[in-house]
Amino acid sequence: MWFCSRWVSSRPSRSSVSDDVGKGNGFLTAIAQSRILTRRARRIVLALRRAYPLLDAPVRLMPRGNPYRILVSAVLSTRTQDPVTASAARRLFALAPDPGSLARLRPTQISQLIYPVGFYRTKARLLSRLGRSICAENGGRVPDSIEELLKLPGVGRKVANIVLSQAFGRPAIAVDTHVRRISNRLGLVSTTRPIETERGLARILPTAYQAEWNRLIVALGQTICRPARPRCPVCPVRHLCEQRGVA
Ligand code: SF4
Repeated sequence: MWFCSRWVSSRPSRSSVSDDVGKGNGFLTAIAQSRILTRRARRIVLALRRAYPLLDAPVRLMPRGNPYRILVSAVLSTRTQDPVTASAARRLFALAPDPGSLARLRPTQISQLIYPVGFYRTKARLLSRLGRSICAENGGRVPDSIEELLKLPGVGRKVANIVLSQAFGRPAIAVDTHVRRISNRLGLVSTTRPIETERGLARILPTAYQAEWNRLIVALGQTICRPARPRCPVCPVRHLCEQRGVA
């Protein structure tokens, strides 16, 4: 890539990054270490904002702004690649542009529209209930609180946080497999369960940066920091990464 040399030009050694977070420096307090992590997390966001337009990441196909479309797309996206999700969502939204029209579709119609997303029959039943629930319980509007979102059929914590952050701009961190893997590799958290990753990131990421963390990190994970053989030499945040667990 033409931009690699610019991205990696100021990369310090891996040991200096570790020193930066206070490994072996007993005099650093937990608060000071947390501040150092916060400063590094902020620099990671700024670097990824610059890189995002240059990354050919499928996550860029996902809708932005409209709460209903973001919610439905997030439900569809579970265990499904983003290009497949985006095409299925386009077909579905052509017939169901709002919760009311979604509620009027039969699950069999929905499953035909969203095939071949993963678990399309189950998701079709959930989406049918989701449309009816939004109309019956929320006056046809997607709720904007985590408590209300979690009451909706098919909505777990990840989907709820995607809606809160990407539709309503709230400080919420949606943790999927990319976010968990890369946040650990970067050395910002040491976690295995998504809820631990979410809480760990919430402690160090300034609220103003939380809403975009998922989208930026997913874009990085889809293009460069892949599960196997991450492409560290061309990574835009290599100079800020501890590369934990990377051979
Ligand atoms: S690609 Fe390498 S340098 Fe970049 S975030 Fe992943 S592990 Fe870190």
